[in-house]
Amino acid sequence: MKLDRRNFIGTGAAIAAAMAAPTVMASGKPRVVVVGGGAGGATAARYIAKDSKGAIDVTLVEPTRNYYTCFFSNLYIGGFRSLDSIGHSYGNLATEYGINVVHDWAVGIDRGSKTVSLAGGATLNYDRLILSPGIDFIDGSVEGWSINAQNKMPHAYKAGSQTELLKAQIEAMPQGGVFAMVAPPNPYRCPPGPYERVSMTAHLLKRQIQQQKLLWQIQSQNSQKWVYSKKGGEIIILE
Ligand SMILES: Cc1cc2nc3c(=O)[nH]c(=O)nc-3n(C[C@H](O)[C@H](O)[C@H](O)COP(=O)(O)OP(=O)(O)OC[C@H]3O[C@@H](n4cnc5c(N)ncnc54)[C@H](O)[C@@H]3O)c2cc1C
Repeated sequence: MKLDRRNFIGTGAAIAAAMAAPTVMASGKPRVVVVGGGAGGATAARYIAKDSKGAIDVTLVEPTRNYYTCFFSNLYIGGFRSLDSIGHSYGNLATEYGINVVHDWAVGIDRGSKTVSLAGGATLNYDRLILSPGIDFIDGSVEGWSINAQNKMPHAYKAGSQTELLKAQIEAMPQGGVFAMVAPPNPYRCPPGPYERVSMTAHLLKRQIQQQKLLWQIQSQNSQKWVYSKKGGEIIILE
């Protein structure tokens, strides 16, 4: 069975695909390929390499060179942590654990021949495959919002440049401006996330208002308004 990129990304959260018994390859080592170097995939790759003490050949496929964790990203927005402190590169996985880190996109899987094809044209053989590509957006699911709008309306569901942009936009808010945030309906991957984010945003704004008061003697009140889902607090259209 073949999966194309669209189906593949749509698989969502981590799926450990236990397929047939491991084949001993010419190298003498069974091979595990892990797709996705986020918290899930990188942890799986690390522990397979570590616990097998080099007896299993582990390859991690991840397009980005630096992974920024969503956890603690709200503390960055609030000014309690630096962006660097939530960033991780993959060098350690290679040097400490002997993992082959391949910076590329997996674009197809052939379960019959047990291969993963990469956007760059290479093909990887595996005995066991772990899929951990995280979640992604369904473009067009909210009228008025598309991936093209993410720099205007940053979601920061993926930490890194999106979180940086969101923070910059909050810092650039004019006096009397409105910060609107919609928590997605359950289930989603971090139930406390929106509460953390709104609290850290309020903290940042409060701090700014204090600073602005000092500089420009501007009087302002920081106010928060909650619109609950039962009272129509859901996103239908964006303009
Ligand atoms: C604002 C926020 C705050 C959060 N706070 C917390 C917290 O405090 N504690 C907590 O436990 N969790 C928290 N979470 C949830 C946590 O971030 C996720 O549960 C976690 O990131 C999921 O890890 P993952 O590896 O499944 O996916 P991801 O972290 O999304 O990683 C998936 C990786 O797969 C890669 N990938 C995707 N497609 C492909 C492909 N085709 N080929 C190769 N690679 C691919 C991506 O580049 C990415 O690096 C938070 C989430 C958010 C949004």
